[in-house]
Amino acid sequence: MIKQATSILKGHSLTYWRIAQVFVAAVGLGILLLLIFLPEIGIHAFWNVLIPIAPILFVVAVGLWRNTCPLASTSLISNHLHFSKKKRLKVKQRGRLQLISVILLLVIIPLRHTIFNTSGHATALILTLLALIAFYVGHRYHWKSAWCSSLCPIHPVEKLYGKKSAFELPNAHCKLCVNCVSPCPDSTKPSKNPIKKKRRLNANIAEVLMVGGFPGFIWGWFQVPDYTHGEGWKHLMITYAYPIVAMAFTLIVFLILKKMIAKKNKAILVNLFATAAVSIYYWYRFPALIGFGMFHQDGMLVDLSQMLPDWFPVLLQFSTTLFFSWWIIFNKKETASWVIRPPYANQRKSIPKFNSITNKSF
Ligand code: SF4
Repeated sequence: MIKQATSILKGHSLTYWRIAQVFVAAVGLGILLLLIFLPEIGIHAFWNVLIPIAPILFVVAVGLWRNTCPLASTSLISNHLHFSKKKRLKVKQRGRLQLISVILLLVIIPLRHTIFNTSGHATALILTLLALIAFYVGHRYHWKSAWCSSLCPIHPVEKLYGKKSAFELPNAHCKLCVNCVSPCPDSTKPSKNPIKKKRRLNANIAEVLMVGGFPGFIWGWFQVPDYTHGEGWKHLMITYAYPIVAMAFTLIVFLILKKMIAKKNKAILVNLFATAAVSIYYWYRFPALIGFGMFHQDGMLVDLSQMLPDWFPVLLQFSTTLFFSWWIIFNKKETASWVIRPPYANQRKSIPKFNSITNKSF
C-alpha cells in the first residue's frame, strides 16, 4: 500500500534533512573545486569514490539519494526562491525528455574513456553544464517534473535499479505535494513490469533501451581503456563501438525473451536484466578500484594488488553478484515507494490524474 504523510515534514526531522542536503551540496561543490584546482584528487573523489557508490545506493536506498542529490537541489533553487515559471510539463514533453535522458547517459558514459576519467577540467565542465541545465529546466517547469523525474541522465538508472528500497523515507524536497508530475516517480510503487504498460512511444523506447540494453552497454564499456593526452579522440569509434554493439546484443536477447515468455513472468525478466546490469558493473569496478583491473591503472583508487591474494577480487565479484541477485530477484520485499508522498498542497488535487506515462517504469 502506498503511504501518504499526514503532516508536513517539520521540526528536527526537517532540520536534519536540510543539514544533509547542505552537506551533500557542499561535498558536491568541494569535488567540483577539486576537479578544477586539484584535478588528480578531484578525479579520484568523483569517479573512484562517489560514482562507484551510486549504483548500490540506488539499489538499496534510492530515496536517500533522491532526497540529497546536489543536482536535484540545484534544479529546485528557483522554486524555493519563488521565481520559477512553474509551467506544467505535458505528457508528450515528458516522454521526449525521458528519451533524451537515456541518450545523454549513453553519449556521456563512453566519453569517460575519451576524456572525463583523466581530465578534472573536462569533468568539472560537464558537471557544470548539467547543473546549468538542471537549474534552467527547474526554473521553467514545475518543481521536480522536468529534471528529477524526466531529463536527469541518472534517473533512468534509478528507475532500473531502485525497485526494492530497504526503507521509505520522508520526502525531504517536497514539503507539500503540488502534483507536479503524475505519476510521481518518488511517491508511487515501482512498477514490476513496465513494458506492458501503454505509454508514449518515446518513454517506451527509453525504457526498453535501458532494461534490455544497459547490461551489454556496461559490459562493452569495461572492455575499453582510458585514453590520456588527447589520444581518446583518435579512438572515439572503438570507445563507442564496444558498448553500443554489446548493448544491441543484450537488447535483442531481451526482446526475443520478452516475446517468448509468459506475461506473468515478464517482471522476472526485467529484474534479471537489472541484476545483470548492476552486477556486471561491480564485477569490473570493484577489482579495478583496488588495483586488479583489466587495464591496471584505470579506475584505481588504491593499489592493493601486492597485498591481497589473487582470489580476493574473485570473491568480491561473486559476492556482489549473489547479493544483487538476491536483493533484486529473490528478495520478496515489496517497495511501496522511494519516499513517502507529503500531504497535498491543494486537497482538490488529492486524487492525482494519471496520464499515460507510467512512473518508475521498470
Ligand atoms: S511528491 Fe508531489 S510535488 Fe513532489 S515530486 Fe512527487 S508529484 Fe511532485
